[in-house]
Amino acid sequence: MILPGATLGMLGGGQLGRMFTVAARTMGYRVIVLDPDPHSPAGRIADRHINANFLDGGALHELSSVCVAITTEFENVPSDTLDILANTCFVRPSANALSMTQDRINEKTFLQNNHIPTNRFVAVTTENEIASAFKLIGSPAILKRSRLGYDGKAQWKVESVEEALDAFRKMDSAPCVLEEFLRYKCEISVVLARGVNGHIASYPTAENIHVNAILDTTIVPARVSHIISTKAQKIARKIADKLNYYGVLAVEMFAMRDGRILVNEIAPRPHNSGHYTLDACVTNQFEQQVRTLCGLEPGETRLLSPVVMINILGDDWSNATPAWEKLFDHPNVKLHLYGKSVPRPGRKMGHFNVLDKNVTKALKLAKTIQSKLKF
Ligand code: ADP
Ligand code: MG
Repeated sequence: MILPGATLGMLGGGQLGRMFTVAARTMGYRVIVLDPDPHSPAGRIADRHINANFLDGGALHELSSVCVAITTEFENVPSDTLDILANTCFVRPSANALSMTQDRINEKTFLQNNHIPTNRFVAVTTENEIASAFKLIGSPAILKRSRLGYDGKAQWKVESVEEALDAFRKMDSAPCVLEEFLRYKCEISVVLARGVNGHIASYPTAENIHVNAILDTTIVPARVSHIISTKAQKIARKIADKLNYYGVLAVEMFAMRDGRILVNEIAPRPHNSGHYTLDACVTNQFEQQVRTLCGLEPGETRLLSPVVMINILGDDWSNATPAWEKLFDHPNVKLHLYGKSVPRPGRKMGHFNVLDKNVTKALKLAKTIQSKLKF
C-alpha cells in the first residue's frame, strides 16, 4: 500500500492528468507530471512538472528516482518508456494492457480471442488488401487507423473501394481496420476500477451521444433496459479480468436494436464518459485511479443523483468566451474547466455536470445551458 505523502508520477499533462492530480493532491500525495508541453493543464497544478519528451532518458531517470508509482492519462505512451520506469517503480496499468489498447488491430483481436462481441472488421495493412476487405465488410464501412486516433481523428466513413483507398492514403498508408458501419440504438460505456487484489468496482452504465465522433453528452443512468445494462457491465468486467488489469478501465460499446452489445474500444484510463462521477458518485474515477495505483481498495461507486454531462469544446468560443453566468444561474450545475489557453475547434476545454431528480429533467436543463453558453 502506498500511502499519502508518497510521490506519484503521471505520464501526460492533459485534462485527465490534471483531474488525477487534483484527486491525488486532495488525498495528500505529491504528483510529478511528465509532459513536453510547458503549459500543460496538469503540469501547471502538479507539485512538479518535468517538461520533457516521453523518451527523454534524463527525464525518465528523474521521474523514476522520485516516484513510487507511475500511471498514465493516455494509451499511446511508448512501450520503452514504460519498460524503463517499471525497473524501479510500480507502473499501472501494465505495459501489456497499454500496448493492447493502443492498437485497434490488437484490441479487436483480443476481443475476438476472448469471445467478446465486437463489430465485424478486417485488418488492412497494404493497399492490395482494401478491395477484398471492402467486399467482406460491405458498404458503408469505416476505415480507422489502427494507432493514434482519438475523438474521431484518423477515421473515415467510406462507401466504395475508391473512397477506402483514398482514406487509406490520407492516413499515410498506416495499418488500419475496416469496420462495418453500424446503425446502433445507442452508445453506452462502463467505467470500472480493478484493484490489485482483483476486486472490481464498476460505475453505472452510461449512455453517450457523440457529435462529429466527439463525445457531446453522457446520461446516467443510461436509458436502456436492465438486461442491456447488466450485459454491458458483465462485458466490461470480463475484459478487466482477462487482462488481469490494475487501474481504471473504460469500455465503449454499441447497443444494437436486436439486444446485442458490441464493444467499440477499450481505454486503459479514466474516460470522458466517466466525468459525471466527479459530482455524482461517492468516489470519482480519478480518486479510483489514485487508489488502484496505490494498491488501495477501490472506493464505492454508488450514484448519488441522476446526472447529465456535457462537454465544452473550443467551438463554444467561436465568437467570445462562453457566457458562464448562464450556467451559474443554476445551483445544480457544476462547471469543470481544464485551464487550456487556446480554444481550438474540437478541443476539449471543459465540461459541466447537471444533477437533477431524473435524467429527463437533467438532460433538458443541460441542453438549454449548452445552447445558451454560445453567443
Ligand atoms: P475514437 O478513438 O476517436 O473515440 P471511436 O472508434 O470510438 O474512435 O469512434 C468515435 C465515434 O465514431 C464513436 O463513438 C461512434 O460515435 C462513431 N463510430 C465509430 N465506429 C463506428 C461504427 N463502426 N459504426 C458507427 N459509428 C461508429
Ligand atoms: Mg471512442
